Amino acid sequence: MAEHLTHEHDVLVIGAGGAGLRAAAEAAMAGVKVGVITKSLLGKAHTVMAEGGIAAALANVDDRDSWRVHFADTMRGGQYLNSWRMAELHAKEAPACVRELEAWGAVFDRTADGRILQRNFGGHRYPRLAHVGDRTGLEMIRTLQDHDIHLGMDVFMEYTVVALLKDGDRIAGAFGYDRERGRFHVFRAKAVVLATGGIGRAFKITSNSWEYTGDGHALAYHAGASLMDMEFVQFHPTGMIWPPSVRGILVTEGVRGEGGVLRNKDGRRFMFDDIPPTYANQTSDTEEEGWRYTQGDKNARRPPELLTRDHVARCIRREVREGRGSPHGGVFLDIAWIQDRIPNAAEHIKKKLPSMYHQFKQLADIDITVEPMEVGPTTHYMMGGVRVDPDSQMSDVPGLFAAGECGAGLHGANRLGGNSLSDLLVFGKRAGQYAACYAKEQSLGVVNADEVTAAEKQALAPFERDSAEGPYAVQHALQDMMQDLVGIVRQEREMLLALERIREFKTRAQLVGVQGNREYNPGWHTAIDLNNLLTVSEMVTRAALERKESRGAHFRDDFPAKDDHFGSFNIVIRKGPGAQMEVRREPIPQMPLELKQIIEEMK
Ligand SMILES: Cc1cc2nc3c(=O)[nH]c(=O)nc-3n(C[C@H](O)[C@H](O)[C@H](O)COP(=O)(O)OP(=O)(O)OC[C@H]3O[C@@H](n4cnc5c(N)ncnc54)[C@H](O)[C@@H]3O)c2cc1C
Repeated sequence: MAEHLTHEHDVLVIGAGGAGLRAAAEAAMAGVKVGVITKSLLGKAHTVMAEGGIAAALANVDDRDSWRVHFADTMRGGQYLNSWRMAELHAKEAPACVRELEAWGAVFDRTADGRILQRNFGGHRYPRLAHVGDRTGLEMIRTLQDHDIHLGMDVFMEYTVVALLKDGDRIAGAFGYDRERGRFHVFRAKAVVLATGGIGRAFKITSNSWEYTGDGHALAYHAGASLMDMEFVQFHPTGMIWPPSVRGILVTEGVRGEGGVLRNKDGRRFMFDDIPPTYANQTSDTEEEGWRYTQGDKNARRPPELLTRDHVARCIRREVREGRGSPHGGVFLDIAWIQDRIPNAAEHIKKKLPSMYHQFKQLADIDITVEPMEVGPTTHYMMGGVRVDPDSQMSDVPGLFAAGECGAGLHGANRLGGNSLSDLLVFGKRAGQYAACYAKEQSLGVVNADEVTAAEKQALAPFERDSAEGPYAVQHALQDMMQDLVGIVRQEREMLLALERIREFKTRAQLVGVQGNREYNPGWHTAIDLNNLLTVSEMVTRAALERKESRGAHFRDDFPAKDDHFGSFNIVIRKGPGAQMEVRREPIPQMPLELKQIIEEMK
């Protein structure tokens, strides 16, 4: 075994985004020794980018809201593949989690009478998103980080975990390196919480940060955990598309929540052309009614621009494919038009959407208070992830927990906007609580020296190779391929081809070489991340092949309809005994009658 440093904790949290920091706080408050590892600096995790808000049925703006409506909205949005238990816990517990965040120092926008203000978002029946302008994630991270460091925990910034360590069946810790010096570290822990975020970097066009290489998904898979719903990758309808250097950067749904409308090149509001039957009775018939909804008229129904993301993304794609798109291959998102309706519209837009104003001004030289934006779909969110027990968040590997975007269950086939930040709080808290409980009952597991040696060897292999090809070439080829063959519209022939290409990329990845030494070497980091991207790409493709229907974010050209039979199970992936990827269909547990009744009542 090469030289390494060893650290010992009761609970080790991998990830310092909203889920990781919330889990760490809960574990620390339970009195156990906590360590937190993050690839980036504390305060810089992907959660910092979240814009629109946190969904919670506080009922501050519309007193008809309740956990029951939030539950029904989440289930409908997820096309009933969600874990109903997680959806129930989430809807019930999110309001208290938001109030707790406020008590810890988060300064939310306020209503006129001083309560937390809530805004409209796609798929939510009532205004539900607690927000701080369009910088909600920044406030969440700032608050949690401040809270956590006063609870006393070890934070390992700019460290990357490359393998989970096991003692027999149970978790024993993790193995990684610090990015600054390239030194190896063994983290012994009684319980490990994965909170590593998503996988967006497997695709070419994405709103996701560099951290989103699916590490937690791949770490869990190789440690023997099951992953679920990997076919459901959310393509957010509104990413920037021009200039090319900023393609994919998110344009928050908050723009549509504040009254922004989508138009094609002919100026037509095309979202009125295709309203899914499940949402027909909740969607406005006229532009006038839609506008009134965004201004808080309780008798109005929401405009079709606030239908779920999967549907809006496909409508945009249709406009572009049928020749009605904008000059750079998207459509127009217009918030400037509200100057016809309200005085001081420009000031209002800048106050409500400050980041969007600056983003377009600085990156595209567009003033959104006077001109429309050009937008198109971008890879945004991973509904699939580690399968967990809904109450405790423990995976099927004893001692391994998962929360946040790297976990699965809450969102089913499609996530509603705002339901991720609340997911981080509710299930981050639960993961921390149950991980601490578990750790209190265990002693530290024994670390297997062979496992550590194998992980070290694999991590260092790119330095040993004298290859002409570097990791970036393979990474870019993979991203192009996933975008083309396993993207927003899928079909069997293309996905079979994708599997072949992934096989080739795996061979190339085993041969890539890197130059230089271990100190802050981005090429080396990319060579390591690449293996994770390949694992998750294969999981996404295999799960997408298995789901022979269209539902939520997963659209099959060869099976364009929803099929009731496929609504009765989740697709679960696990590493088989011969290291092959096993794909299974697992029935969704029976929903209790009282929850079924809620769904019926809310239809
Ligand atoms: C632009 C944008 C806007 C969004 N707006 C909203 C919104 O308004 N509302 C909403 O609900 N959702 C929103 N989302 C989604 C939401 O932000 C994310 O789903 C959420 O922040 C994920 O949080 P997380 O804690 O799971 O992961 P993250 O915040 O991504 O944290 C992951 C952590 O894991 C670490 N990590 C990863 N791999 C490793 C490894 N191998 N070793 C060590 N550490 C590792 C990372 O460094 C990081 O610290 C938005 C997303 C984007 C991209």
